Amino acid sequence: MTTTVRTQVAIVGAGPAGLVLSHLLAEAGIASVIIDQRSREDIEQTIRAGILEQGTVDLLATIPGSRVHTAGARHDGIELRFDGAGHRIDFPDLTGRAVWLYPQHEALKDLLAARIGAGQDLRFGVTATGVEDADGDRPRVIAVDDAGAGLEIEADFVVGADGSRSVVRKAISGSHGGLFREYPFAWFGILCEAGPSADELIYSNSPDGFALISQRSETVQRMYFQCAPDLDADSMSEAQIWDALQRRVPGTTLVEGPIFQRDVLRFRSFVAKELRHGRLAIVGDAAHTVPPTGAKGMNLAVADVLLLARALEALLVRSDAGLLDGFADAARDRIWKAQHFSWWMTSMLHVAPDASDFDRERQLGELRSVVESEAGRTYLAEGYTGWPFA
Ligand SMILES: Cc1cc2nc3c(=O)[nH]c(=O)nc-3n(C[C@H](O)[C@H](O)[C@H](O)COP(=O)(O)OP(=O)(O)OC[C@H]3O[C@@H](n4cnc5c(N)ncnc54)[C@H](O)[C@@H]3O)c2cc1C
Repeated sequence: MTTTVRTQVAIVGAGPAGLVLSHLLAEAGIASVIIDQRSREDIEQTIRAGILEQGTVDLLATIPGSRVHTAGARHDGIELRFDGAGHRIDFPDLTGRAVWLYPQHEALKDLLAARIGAGQDLRFGVTATGVEDADGDRPRVIAVDDAGAGLEIEADFVVGADGSRSVVRKAISGSHGGLFREYPFAWFGILCEAGPSADELIYSNSPDGFALISQRSETVQRMYFQCAPDLDADSMSEAQIWDALQRRVPGTTLVEGPIFQRDVLRFRSFVAKELRHGRLAIVGDAAHTVPPTGAKGMNLAVADVLLLARALEALLVRSDAGLLDGFADAARDRIWKAQHFSWWMTSMLHVAPDASDFDRERQLGELRSVVESEAGRTYLAEGYTGWPFA
C-alpha cells in the first residue's frame, strides 16, 4: 500500500543540511516533510564532525534549545606541528573570528528536538528510492518505509540532503556524476576514555605521516592518524594504535586510555556536476564532499542551505525565481574555495606513500612559509574559521 502526502518542500535526509533547512523554511512560513532512512537513535549516535565555523555556530545558536554555546567549546587557535616544533595559529588575532568544538551528533540532538518540538513532519526509517516528474511543477519523492509500505511525497520543490550517496543527485545529474579526486591515504580515527593531551587541536606533520589530536570532553578524546585506505580497523592492537599516534606527534606525550571506537575513514573530494534542475536541488554532502582535514563538510552544508532557504522563500512566498536561478553559481563559489582549502590542508600535512626526498623538503618549506608569514597564517585562519556568509 502506498500513501501520498503533499507539502511545499520535500526534504530527503535528516542530517545537518536537511534539519537546518526545515528550520529556516519554517521560519519563513514554508511547510516541509523530511524523511530519513535511519532511526532517530542512529542519527543521534553517529560520530562525525567536531569543528564548527563561527557562522555555523551563530546560526545554530538561533535554534530554540541549542546548547552550542553552553556545551560547545570555543577554540581560538590550532597548532601546526612539524620538524619538531609547534606553531600556534591565533584565529581572533588574525581574523577576529573563532571556531567551536561541538560534536555533530550533539548539534543533531538539538536540531531534532527543536524540529519535533515545533511539530515538523519528520519520518524516520523511510528510504527514498527515486524522484518522479523531475521536470514538472510537482516533483514526487518515491519512498518505502522499514515495514515495506510505500510513501510518495508530492511537493512544490524537492531537496536532496541525503548525503554522499544521494538518490536525488541521480535525478538531477543522471549519469553525469561530477568532478572528483581520490587520495592515497585515509584516517584511522579513535575515540578513547582519557583526559585531553592538549588544550587545542594539534595538526601534526611527521616523517611517519599526519596525526590530528582533537578533544571531545574532559574524559573522552578523538584522535586520528594517517593510514592506508584499505587498512582493516580491527587489524591493530591498542598498543600499536598508541604507538602510531605517539610517533606522529613528537614533543607531546599523549594521555592514553581505553579505545572504545575505531574506524578507517576514506576520503575523496567531489563536486556534483549539477546542483539544481527545475524544482529539484541538492545540498551538503549530496552536492559535494571534502577530506576532513579542513573541517569544512558540515559547515559547507549549512552554507548551501542558507542560500537555498532564501531562494525557496523568494520562490514560494513571493513567486520570484531569481534567487533560485542564481543558487547553483552562488553555492559553487564557496564550495570551490572550501574544496581548495581542504585539498591544501590535506596535501600540506599528509605524507604521500610515494613522496620523494624532494617532496618532503618542499612540504616542510611550504609549512614554514605558512607559519612564518602573517599572510600565510591569515589565509589558514580565514579558511578554517570560515568565510563570512554572503
Ligand atoms: C570523521 C569525520 C569528521 C568530520 N569532521 C568535520 C568537521 O570537523 N567539520 C565539518 O564541518 N565537517 C566535518 N565532517 C563532515 C560532516 O560530517 C558532513 O559533511 C555532514 O554530515 C554533511 O551533512 P549532510 O546533512 O549533508 O549529510 P549527512 O550528515 O550524511 O546526512 C544525510 C542524511 O540522509 C539520510 N539518507 C541518505 N540516503 C537516504 C535515502 N535514500 N532516503 C532517506 N534518507 C537518506 C542519511 O541517513 C543521513 O541521515 C566530518 C566527517 C567525518 C566522517
